[in-house]
Amino acid sequence: MSPRVGVLALQGDTREHLAALDEAGAEAVTVRRLAELDTVDGLVIPGGESTAMSHLLREFDLLEPLRARLAEGMPAYGSCAGMILLASEILDAGAAGRQATPLKGIDMAVRRNAFGRQVDSFEGDIPFTGLDSPVHAVFIRAPWVERVGPDVEVLGRAGEHIVAVRQGRTLATSFHPEVTGDRRVHKLFVDMVSGER
Ligand code: GLN
Repeated sequence: MSPRVGVLALQGDTREHLAALDEAGAEAVTVRRLAELDTVDGLVIPGGESTAMSHLLREFDLLEPLRARLAEGMPAYGSCAGMILLASEILDAGAAGRQATPLKGIDMAVRRNAFGRQVDSFEGDIPFTGLDSPVHAVFIRAPWVERVGPDVEVLGRAGEHIVAVRQGRTLATSFHPEVTGDRRVHKLFVDMVSGER
């Protein structure tokens, strides 16, 4: 049976992830309310703006329930802003009172807009552990990972910077595989939700 995978749909590029998950063999649904979060086997946190998403998570009373699901081991995948939110520590988290809030799904420190200080957006082919050929990676005001804990596996780098990681059944990328036609990263996540990888 296909796993039921939610896409957090408060803000950001929800539609692209729904399409990618569907093509990767999941039953893809949007998540905006607690009752919807309760029905999913795994969750994608899309790209967008991590400070705005943090604010909306609070407004929709989803912040603590989502943290609790992650702590219980619900599989999750975050791209770009989603990677920032899955971190245990956020560097350059934003202006006081409007900061991005870590959900602590992965033991890592992530710097917001890290590449953005050098170049706003760029693309490149990234070797990705477990995939047979490089992924075409699109970076948009992207974060990078500055520290990983002992249980975190680094799956990809752009130059010296860590841009793809996995801890247990939680996955994060600085880039946006949902905007390319390549579904291998989403397929990896769907298989992680099913317990096959
Ligand atoms: N810079 C954004 C943030 O801080 C992330 C950008 C993106 O998701 N494309 O949340």
